[in-house]
Amino acid sequence: MSRMRVRERFAVTVRGFGILKKYCPGLVRDKALYELINSLQPFVSVWFSARIIDEIILGRRVEVLAAYVAGIVLINFLGAVCKGILKRLGDEKEALMWCWFGKIFSDKQMSLDFEDLEDAGIRHQRQEAEENLYMFGNGLGQLVWGTAVLVRAGINLAASLFLTGTLFFSRSGNAAADSPLWVAAVLLCILAGGICNSRATIKENEIFMEWCKGTVWFNRTFMFFGKELYMNPERAKDVRIYEQSVLAKRELDKLIRRNRENQRDNFRMALFPGAASVVIGLANGACYLYVVIKAFFGAFGVGSIVQYVAALSRLGEGVQEFMYLLSDNEMYCLHLRKLFEYLDLPNRRYQGSLTVEKRDDIEYDIEFCDVSFRYPGADKDALSHVNLKFRIGEKLAVVGRNGSGKTTLIKLLCRLYDPTQGEIFLNGVEIRKYDYDEYIALFSVVFQDFKLFSFTLGQNVAAGVKYDRARARECLIKAGMGERLEEMPRGLDTCLYRDFGENGVEISGGEAQKTALARALYKDAPFMILDEPTAALDPVAEYEVYSKFNEIAGDRTAVYISHRLASCRFCDTVAVFDKGHLVQKGSHDELVLEEDGMYYQLWHAQAQYYTHRG
Ligand code: ADP
Repeated sequence: MSRMRVRERFAVTVRGFGILKKYCPGLVRDKALYELINSLQPFVSVWFSARIIDEIILGRRVEVLAAYVAGIVLINFLGAVCKGILKRLGDEKEALMWCWFGKIFSDKQMSLDFEDLEDAGIRHQRQEAEENLYMFGNGLGQLVWGTAVLVRAGINLAASLFLTGTLFFSRSGNAAADSPLWVAAVLLCILAGGICNSRATIKENEIFMEWCKGTVWFNRTFMFFGKELYMNPERAKDVRIYEQSVLAKRELDKLIRRNRENQRDNFRMALFPGAASVVIGLANGACYLYVVIKAFFGAFGVGSIVQYVAALSRLGEGVQEFMYLLSDNEMYCLHLRKLFEYLDLPNRRYQGSLTVEKRDDIEYDIEFCDVSFRYPGADKDALSHVNLKFRIGEKLAVVGRNGSGKTTLIKLLCRLYDPTQGEIFLNGVEIRKYDYDEYIALFSVVFQDFKLFSFTLGQNVAAGVKYDRARARECLIKAGMGERLEEMPRGLDTCLYRDFGENGVEISGGEAQKTALARALYKDAPFMILDEPTAALDPVAEYEVYSKFNEIAGDRTAVYISHRLASCRFCDTVAVFDKGHLVQKGSHDELVLEEDGMYYQLWHAQAQYYTHRG
């Protein structure tokens, strides 16, 4: 386990509190206040009890006894009320804490550069921080719990020193009992108990930290082979047909083996605190002996014995907790540091600030100038030296074989990635110079692998909670979902999918694609990009989309990626890609005549497929 310097631990802890304050408001405060009252109350009771006993034995003054009894009752009553309220508030916030932690990760994920989302190293970094936090509370969770321990230790130390102060200075008249060596021996025993506890924590943490390194693997294997593979209805068909359960069993066996090994770790982890308990027991014994001997020789009365014995054992607990915290803090600081490394991942993408000119005539033109792009870690370009200009209002079809770079072109256009070389311009200005959110608002896109969400149909179309119902309905009808909408039990308010209840409706791949198209229409952006928008549609629905394509796209500039070359006839221009290069550009009628061109090949391959029946 790599060590951390005290200064860094302090800085990391302070930052941890900053994050807790922002994302979990009031949690640390309520927990700390509860612990303050909870730890203080026993000392107050002990002090009053000692006074009552002494008064009964010595003074027997009724009014003084009554005042002590009233005091203890009142303080305990107030303490119980405050503790009750603070416990409820703290527990409620602690239950919410896990959702609040989720927000930390979702905020960061949303702000990461898109290409970092696909980076395996960054994914692992996030999972390690997130899963350790959720499984064991490592890092932020421990900081919350550690704060309660810190308050308790602080109160235990301060209050027990306050209550035992007179013990160390009291005199019995017996030289042996009053010897300062006793004081030194008792304090040493208490310190030894604390040190043993701290060593035990360090050892325990070392084993635990080693074990935590496997958390991501453990979770991934368990979630995938133990749950996803069997639970996800989308995978169930393939799992059964290809008997994937055999493979799953083998992987799950590895988990069980690791769990058995874990038993050994658990035993080792228990061994150290066990050894520490022995020393702590001896330390407590020394404390009792000291108090009894002093009382025996008449240094103080019976009431004080109660006070000193209780306070000394609390002093021991305080020292142990404090030492434990010092060691434990290092462990959660290491986890916090890992979390911060992830949270501090920089945005490398250039952040422009130019406002996108809002044009009523939606006259925006786009130009790719010598654009090349290589995916991180890839050994060849996905796009190479592409020069392409879209005329305003143009319907551009992009065609090519699988892997020729069509989707990559769209990803660059939408700034999910920045080109490795070359530039893209919007109305003559390089697109990176625009404010990202404003720029992205210009595009309605239906990606090939689009996703709908388990919200209502209307919310899916509008991509929002409050929306224009008439417009959502109109877009669904335009996208060919009109009839299905009529059949939906609650119309636009029907929930899609069953993730959130039995009343959800499962829709087919084709219906989902139409809904995604309706969502793109609802956004009503000046650019419409459709990546294989008819792949999941039946021939009739596909024909409907083609024939209504001009109506759907309206006067927007539209980019249409399709394997169905027949659709290119609805477009003004066709751009043909091959192995990342733009190899041809022209109208369908022109390109279909160029016999040595790629488009001719593709067109005839497809025509053959449709005309020759096997
Ligand atoms: P198309 O849309 O024409 O089928 P793509 O643009 O999706 O092609 O892919 C172009 C090339 O880039 C392919 O060789 C593909 O394997 C590669 N590629 C696509 N996405 C990624 C990615 N996220 N990481 C690495 N390589 C990718």
